[in-house]
Amino acid sequence: MSYPYKKVDCDDIAYFQSVIDSERIYGGEDIREEYTHDEMPELGTYMPELVIEALSTQEVSDVMRYCYEKNIPVIPRGAGTGLSGGAVAKYGGIVLSLAKMNRILKWDMDTMVVECEPGVLLMELAAAAVERGLLYPPDPGEKTASIGGNVLCNAGGMRAVRYGTTRDYVRAIEGVLPDGELVKFSSNVVKNTSGYDLKDLIIGSEGTLCVATKFTLKLLPLPKYSYSLVVPFPTLEACIDTVPKFLQSRLNPTAVEFIQRDVIGAAEVYLGKSFPDKTSDSYLILMFDGNSRAEVEADCDEAADICMQSGAMDVFLCNTDERKAAVWNVRGACLEAIKCSTTQSEECDVVVPRNRIAEFVKYAKAVSSQYHIRITTLGHAGDGNIHVQICRDDLPEDLWEEGLEKVLHDLYNKAKEFDGQVSGEHGIGHTKIKALRESVGEVTYGLFKAVKKAFDAKNILNPGKVVGLDVEE
Ligand SMILES: Cc1cc2nc3c(=O)[nH]c(=O)nc-3n(C[C@H](O)[C@H](O)[C@H](O)COP(=O)(O)OP(=O)(O)OC[C@H]3O[C@@H](n4cnc5c(N)ncnc54)[C@H](O)[C@@H]3O)c2cc1C
Repeated sequence: MSYPYKKVDCDDIAYFQSVIDSERIYGGEDIREEYTHDEMPELGTYMPELVIEALSTQEVSDVMRYCYEKNIPVIPRGAGTGLSGGAVAKYGGIVLSLAKMNRILKWDMDTMVVECEPGVLLMELAAAAVERGLLYPPDPGEKTASIGGNVLCNAGGMRAVRYGTTRDYVRAIEGVLPDGELVKFSSNVVKNTSGYDLKDLIIGSEGTLCVATKFTLKLLPLPKYSYSLVVPFPTLEACIDTVPKFLQSRLNPTAVEFIQRDVIGAAEVYLGKSFPDKTSDSYLILMFDGNSRAEVEADCDEAADICMQSGAMDVFLCNTDERKAAVWNVRGACLEAIKCSTTQSEECDVVVPRNRIAEFVKYAKAVSSQYHIRITTLGHAGDGNIHVQICRDDLPEDLWEEGLEKVLHDLYNKAKEFDGQVSGEHGIGHTKIKALRESVGEVTYGLFKAVKKAFDAKNILNPGKVVGLDVEE
């Protein structure tokens, strides 16, 4: 099948060399293998025709303007840690790396914001904030991701229960439209009802509407105390059924995660470190933040009471850095550990109403038995986002492909039946478009396509992501 895009030729390269240093333009064998995929090579590898590393908004604009005119696809890329094939050149063209636009530009303590470029890594921004007594709350598992990738994927993570997702910390975005125009979406204001909220449309758009070149991000004062609880339960049901009780109480937990023995085991092997308890199959891990020790201890006591009344076997307090690390390192390594425990895996990142989590997890286990495919579940019990990993192990190719399709079909259908959504935080990329379309229906999907067209009439910016290409539909 052919696509309506121009191939990059010598004249194009000559133009790029006229606006960007040649050392930041890579073609042919100089393109590193990592640019052919994101964190999930199993979703397909695609060699770009060119990789360009931008250093400034002007360079991004020059590349976009030219590519729009010439009809060359451009794929924005941060750190390449995405999990849905969002940053790959599926239809050829240029991977535009923002990784070297990595300066933190300004801390404004009067309005409690930081301005930064997209290539700043999450771990760098988070650490720089802590040094100043500040908290940048979004906390997805992958700390080496870029802020650009986090914003464009609306990353969530463990602390979303209390603090929300990346979206809640973006005040303004400066970006370059597909035709090269520079635009600012919103500004450093706390509220805004001035027209359509395009900033919120850009957040989570996976690089399909604009290339983001600068962010203004909201900060909070750093809480002085943060304690965690590890709570073993006799069954997964008892574990998950406890979650609504926190949400109904006066407690405001920072994180509420569930984790099961099979996943803990994989993470222990992966890390070479032990989880602090071995007595149970199902655990809740809770985190509470606050500014006084008494306040956090009171929260932990109340949470412990709720857990014990709900049938918990015990409650372990983690109030030292060492103990907290023992728990959260294991939880943080789970996704990588599951991937490493099998020959191939695929992820389903559905989000369901919080009162349906236990049912969904049980359903996933039943699907696993039905199709004889290993399925692990873990996730953010506090916000209903379940990471279901489907593992190939030693299944032959044909059985894996056939089984995987059925498993995904059943899981997405069940999420829809529960009024859930296809992705809670990992996005659509080029792999979940069919599931998205079936989930949201034709009217909404048509609106998605119209939005894409309004920003990018020629469909050259990250084509075939979030919404499909017309020629394929
Ligand atoms: C081990 C692991 C654990 C994870 N845990 C979590 C978790 O708990 N919660 C969660 O929410 N996510 C999680 N993630 C996913 C994580 O949020 C993404 O990997 C991350 O946000 C992507 O950032 P990146 O810089 O690597 O972006 P990339 O992978 O480079 O790109 C991701 C998407 O953003 C677009 N993009 C990137 N930068 C720009 C830009 N400047 N302008 C326009 N478009 C851009 C790309 O085109 C692509 O579509 C996890 C990932 C891994 C590997």
